[in-house]
Amino acid sequence: MLQEIDWHARAKAVALPNRPFIDGQYVDSLSGETFACIYPGDGRPLTDVASCNAADVDVAVRSARKAFEAGVWSRMAPADRRRILLRFSELILANREELALLETLNVGKPIANAYNGDVVSAAACIAWYAEAIDKVYGEVAATAYDMTTLVMREPLGIVAAVVPWNYPMSMAAWKLGPALATGNSVILKPAEQSPFTALKFGELAIEAGMPPGVLNVVPGLGHIAGKALGLHMDVDCVGFTGSTEVGKYFMQYSGQSNIKRIGLELGGKSPQVVLADCDDLDAAAAGIAAGIFANTGQVCNAGSRLIVDEKIHDQLLEKIAAQAKVFAPGDPLDTATRMGSMVSEEQMDRVLGYIDAGRADGARPVIGGGRVKTETGGFYIEPTIFEGVRNDMKIAQEEIFGPVLSAIPVKGFDEAMATANDTVYGLAGAVWTGSVKNAHRAAKSLRAGVVWVNCFDRGSLAVPFGGFKQSGFGRDKSLHAMDKYTDLKAVWFAH
Ligand code: NAD
Repeated sequence: MLQEIDWHARAKAVALPNRPFIDGQYVDSLSGETFACIYPGDGRPLTDVASCNAADVDVAVRSARKAFEAGVWSRMAPADRRRILLRFSELILANREELALLETLNVGKPIANAYNGDVVSAAACIAWYAEAIDKVYGEVAATAYDMTTLVMREPLGIVAAVVPWNYPMSMAAWKLGPALATGNSVILKPAEQSPFTALKFGELAIEAGMPPGVLNVVPGLGHIAGKALGLHMDVDCVGFTGSTEVGKYFMQYSGQSNIKRIGLELGGKSPQVVLADCDDLDAAAAGIAAGIFANTGQVCNAGSRLIVDEKIHDQLLEKIAAQAKVFAPGDPLDTATRMGSMVSEEQMDRVLGYIDAGRADGARPVIGGGRVKTETGGFYIEPTIFEGVRNDMKIAQEEIFGPVLSAIPVKGFDEAMATANDTVYGLAGAVWTGSVKNAHRAAKSLRAGVVWVNCFDRGSLAVPFGGFKQSGFGRDKSLHAMDKYTDLKAVWFAH
């Protein structure tokens, strides 16, 4: 199916949603302002999108509050919410071509990834929480004989989901699934780089039977629409995925307003530790290349620091460089492309700045190191591997969010672990080893919310995802995510 579609022709004809979706319909923004959406594959403008301001956000919050207080969703039997969410998931899949295309046009990711990965995983996430919601139970606490004491979970009310552009549909679904399933009304604020699929989700939710106001979508700029949600006195919770810098703003917004709950899935600088006893360097090389070049390295848990024992350093780098060839940047609308463009010119320039900083600090590019495909007008960077990196260099400490791997040589297990943990981040980490003992020791030593042993980037909706340290707190995915969007209530019945 994927290969049979003329994606370039479809791209010329597809309708691009560009107005806020509030109270069950597309509406004009009050701000009247817009921002431009550019296709990063060729640098050409696609359309102008409404830039919601604080007044628009307020309309969305009022609509969401009205729906919540009316109980049309919040008091609906979980089994009925389940039915509507399952229909929502089915509609996401039914609109797979259009959603995949909208995603690729917004962010320049390969159409095959959007079609086979992003759409499918977003639909699966909504379905997982739909299936879960009528199978979770409260508690009866062991209190005095003349009391019956229930411990229940209740929805918080209005949840703002503020999400990034790297996996727009999945990141939205990770918030929408648990927040909607538990009965909240949600206002989704997509990143300004990627508003299309979020807006389409609003439309599909209504088609699935979700009452108006339960899911509103406000496109807008972070420091305007995002900030307005963070400071709004009637938003009860923000589920945020994005940079650590902006995550810190949300903590401040909460303190400056109504102490709204904040869940933060933030940045990372994940170590790929390869010990001298690694018994499958080919598997490690393949995992490490995919772990930094997939999605153009624009991945929160990208394995961007290679911490490798000096005994196997040269051999491993040669193998990773060979694997990197698969990720030569190509036309995002070509179904054979494995790596597309960067999301924007700004992001490309940011990554090129880091590459310059790496060279200036004395690290040496083994492969890559520059912009390519300039003739297209698009924003492409080739896979880049730096050797001779010290862990105190900028390219080893700061999140680059691009296809740049920094190789840091170390001696032995203890130095490997100390180097891996010498970062402000703690989202994820991996160890490649043939020793069971070292595998267990490393899994306990790495200060990260996710540890992979002899694999990388494996995930499941059944498993929580999120970070330690400045990579945030709270978890997406799994039943644990529902805790973020609910409050505990204890009820004491005297007999
Ligand atoms: P970002 O922090 O710039 O933006 C994220 C969202 O916040 C966007 O919707 C944006 O409009 C909004 N925003 C920006 N400035 C704001 C402000 N001043 N006030 C309120 N809202 C504001 O992040 P990004 O560039 O879109 O995404 C990349 C970042 O996301 C990386 O740091 C990456 O690691 C992180 N990320 C983390 C995870 C995770 O699960 N931990 C997953 C994906 C991405």
